Amino acid sequence: MQGKHPYDYKFSGGVQCDAPLSALTTLKVGGAAKVLWSPSSVEELCTFKKEAGKCIAHALLGDGSNTLVADNGFDGVVIRLKDLPQDIYMSGKEVTMGAGVSCGTVARFAREAELDGLAFWCGIPGSVGGALYMNAGAYGRETVDPLVSVNLISPEGERVQFKPQELDFSYRQSGVKDGWIIESATFKLAEGRKDKIKQDMRDINRDRSKSQPLNMPSSGSWFTNPKGQKSWQLVDSVGGRGQRLGDAAVSEKHSNFFVNHGAATAGDMLALSDEMIDKIYKEHGILMTTEVQKLGSFERV
Ligand SMILES: Cc1cc2nc3c(=O)[nH]c(=O)nc-3n(C[C@H](O)[C@H](O)[C@H](O)COP(=O)(O)OP(=O)(O)OC[C@H]3O[C@@H](n4cnc5c(N)ncnc54)[C@H](O)[C@@H]3O)c2cc1C
Repeated sequence: MQGKHPYDYKFSGGVQCDAPLSALTTLKVGGAAKVLWSPSSVEELCTFKKEAGKCIAHALLGDGSNTLVADNGFDGVVIRLKDLPQDIYMSGKEVTMGAGVSCGTVARFAREAELDGLAFWCGIPGSVGGALYMNAGAYGRETVDPLVSVNLISPEGERVQFKPQELDFSYRQSGVKDGWIIESATFKLAEGRKDKIKQDMRDINRDRSKSQPLNMPSSGSWFTNPKGQKSWQLVDSVGGRGQRLGDAAVSEKHSNFFVNHGAATAGDMLALSDEMIDKIYKEHGILMTTEVQKLGSFERV
């Protein structure tokens, strides 16, 4: 049951009305949220879920590195977890942190603690919640690999702990259902050597800056890889590399990165994406799926 106006709820923590979302995403497109809310405690989140979760439209935004915001924004509450405590706890080889902590911060923390297993997070510009939701992966590793447990907030506002095998993790999917919020997680890492982890992270960052357009707004890989295929090769095969529609473009440097040359709209990004999907389907009979997550309404009129 949705339908109550976000202004009807008395939020605690940081609240901004008609908040532009483009600056909060790495793609830098899209409109405003009716309300942008940054709760300062998990309890506030649970209370919101209990009291208003069923009647006020709301959505989660992590670090916005895999999110395409609709041009007319989001007519509800966008919840960011950046004002929640950012601590990382260590117990033996286990590290626990809140969903709002950035992956890069955790990767560096683990490196300093000589713990290996999350070095691949150093180049992922997202939050722990986003990485878990997307089961983010790179260089042969996925977020679920070292995961011990994840704490979620249910649509009814209850805190529930899950083991990874109780969720449905797969390639770029976590099985976290609509309405659930990832609150925190614990990972078990392996003993490692700081200098070796540092070198691994340097190699990853060097490799990324060689092959990816890191100086342009993007959301990383635009399409997921179909089984046994590489999306960049499929986009190349239909002449997609460098194609442009308004300020939306397929990167010259990496043809599975869709970039914003400055003033792209979400409509431009999707029209270009649809063009690639059509061409690839016609040429190869493969239906591409976008990895980027949509926030807001994309219905065409
Ligand atoms: C330059 C660049 C490189 C990238 N490289 C990689 C890569 O190598 N591998 C890879 O997998 N991805 C990569 N990405 C994509 C992106 O960084 C990851 O998907 C990242 O995990 C998204 O995290 P986020 O916090 O930014 O998520 P957001 O974009 O904020 O959100 C993504 C989804 O997760 C949901 N979500 C976020 N937080 C929560 C929460 N606490 N509870 C429930 N749902 C939540 C959101 O509602 C949304 O549906 C890259 C992106 C860029 C820009």
